[in-house]
Amino acid sequence: MEWKNLSKTLPIGSNLLARGLSNLTNCIHCGELEAANHLLLHCEFSRQVWMQAPFKFSIDSSMILDLVTGIKASKTWICAPPTGVSSGHLFPWICWAIWAARNHFLFENRVFSPSDTITKAVREAIKWQMAQMTEKPFCQQDPYRMEEPTLDSRQIICQTGAA
Ligand SMILES: [Zn+2]
Repeated sequence: MEWKNLSKTLPIGSNLLARGLSNLTNCIHCGELEAANHLLLHCEFSRQVWMQAPFKFSIDSSMILDLVTGIKASKTWICAPPTGVSSGHLFPWICWAIWAARNHFLFENRVFSPSDTITKAVREAIKWQMAQMTEKPFCQQDPYRMEEPTLDSRQIICQTGAA
């Protein structure tokens, strides 16, 4: 799903207001109208999360126009070596962690700090990245690691040439 379409379908304040649901339209952090760009980039809470992100340079998310611009720009952002996250992979996980922090507060009254939020984003990004490395397609697996087929003495083997 494209980011542009995703931000229009999230049950976020501005989208709920457009559908006539006006009781959950304000940002839980600052009280402004909750729009995707506000919640994930421009809110002071989100700015604090982005500033703590382990990129080689500090990100001021209030300067990013919108999510589409951010995802394109993030492909060149390099993570500091100790994190082990490849460039471009952290952006969606930070957005997801900000969204999750919003939902935990809204539905469970659990508060996550910007520091908790970025820690969660980095941890999940690393887990996801490791999962991508371990789940190779069958044709890329090491053939020497496969188990030898066992022969049942009752089986008849018929080998034919390829020609
Ligand atoms: Zn806000």
